[in-house]
Amino acid sequence: MTSPDSGPDWAALAEAFTPRRRIFVDGDWRDAVSGETFATVSPRDGRVLAEVARGAAADVDAAADSARRAFEDGRWSRSAPAERKRVLLRLAELIERNGAELALTDALDGGKLVAETSTVDVPGSAAIVQWYAEAIDKLYGEVAPVGPSALATVTREPLGVVGAVIPWNYPLEMAVWKLAPALAAGNSVVLKPAEESPLSALRLAELAVEAGLPDGVLNVVPGLGVEAGQAIGLHPDIDAVAFTGSTEVGKLFQTYAGRSNMKQVWLECGGKSANVVFDDVEDLDAAADLAVFGFLACSGQVCSANARLLVHRSRHDELVALLLDRVAAKVVGDPLAAASTMGPLVSAKQLDRVQGYVESGRREATLAFGGARLHTETGGSYQEPTVFVDVPQSAAVWREEIFGPVLAVAAFDTEEEAVRLANASPYGLAASVWTDDLRRAHRVAGRLDAGTVSVNTVDALDVTVPFGGVKQSGYGRDLSLHALDKFTSLKTTWIQL
Ligand code: NAP
Ligand code: MG
Repeated sequence: MTSPDSGPDWAALAEAFTPRRRIFVDGDWRDAVSGETFATVSPRDGRVLAEVARGAAADVDAAADSARRAFEDGRWSRSAPAERKRVLLRLAELIERNGAELALTDALDGGKLVAETSTVDVPGSAAIVQWYAEAIDKLYGEVAPVGPSALATVTREPLGVVGAVIPWNYPLEMAVWKLAPALAAGNSVVLKPAEESPLSALRLAELAVEAGLPDGVLNVVPGLGVEAGQAIGLHPDIDAVAFTGSTEVGKLFQTYAGRSNMKQVWLECGGKSANVVFDDVEDLDAAADLAVFGFLACSGQVCSANARLLVHRSRHDELVALLLDRVAAKVVGDPLAAASTMGPLVSAKQLDRVQGYVESGRREATLAFGGARLHTETGGSYQEPTVFVDVPQSAAVWREEIFGPVLAVAAFDTEEEAVRLANASPYGLAASVWTDDLRRAHRVAGRLDAGTVSVNTVDALDVTVPFGGVKQSGYGRDLSLHALDKFTSLKTTWIQL
């Protein structure tokens, strides 16, 4: 369904939307062992999109068994890297070919702008699958310099069964960040998508089988965190968990591992990234454009969102004025409407949470813009972009991850103070620095506690560079060849000659 110049007719496609809604195990669909379901709701209008099978411990057992059988018989784990490449390249192609459906799925299920899911999430996901597909038959092992009496090789082996537990902000992309390197390396996977947005991962699993992935290698168990998520964490036969989500739940996965089989736990957790703007920046318009992008992309529901803006006092008023102009121009609305430039939050619950922070911000800082709930008549979860200025370090809106379209602004006087303020956080996922002084850029980037520092941009991200945090933002890296570190173990083989 395409109209001549404006692409797909999203509203019409939404009317006909019929998502997969059952558990995917061993290449086939099944209901939960309990027979129960849960509702996934669209934050676009608060309506139930689908009743989805509510996977729990018994379903995770079945998925892990299927994954283990597939791993042990070598149907994928011992296939030639060139064969894995072929299948994953075909999956990348199928993601693109089914792009409109996948883009619509995340727009309806997660409330993301379809203009973004169709141009960023879907092509980005296809590109990541393609990248790992192309990488996997170009990785060589090592021969250790042990001398003439032995041959010692160091090779990368798949771990076995990998559990992946992911959040709702980039449902398709987060699944792909875990699946692409895990599968490329030869592992089997049990994936639990977020309760708020389970639908695109189910379709992705079906596409993977269509691409030629053998049955049982990828299993998807939708369900609740406290049920299916915990069952993955505690499972005695899952070798590693790759988690993206909150710091609080990340810590639970560490305890699950300790209480069960000491599985490896890789954590991509929360953030409260600082965006530091120095007084020497000539192009303050660019800094304002990207500061707005940095806290409003995906309605602010981004782990690396630039939620704290630190501006040199001499440029503070000027930058805040430029920024507020841009924030005021945002059109918050239906994620399927071409006019919308910001969609709803993922759920009514998330909107209540953000509103709680707006209330505390009103008491602890100065509200410069926004704060309201919008479009309540639609039944959707719409929040006005919100900016607080003169925010003290003690304020909750300065310290805590809000995961919504809320910016906290503060002024600084010296470089030393800027670095100290930026680093005064339990998180260390990302940071941005704006300066026209190369020496300062290099010096400050080196001192910031962050997995990624973007200079004269925000949130720099690409499949070629590792992404992940320090401190309580977690450890381990997604993307790039470094992601393979968490989905493989090094095997030393020593042959005495
Ligand atoms: P979350 O509540 O931590 O949930 C993440 C996943 O864990 C979901 O699948 C969730 O299931 C599951 N889960 C929840 N409680 C659990 C439990 N007790 N045991 C086992 N699993 C459990 O996070 P979220 O609200 O979905 O996402 C927002 C958070 O993700 C933010 O903190 C954000 O910073 C972080 N995030 C980090 C990155 C990164 O790369 N660092 C990227 C994106 C998001 P349910 O859906 O059923 O709750
Ligand atoms: Mg939903």
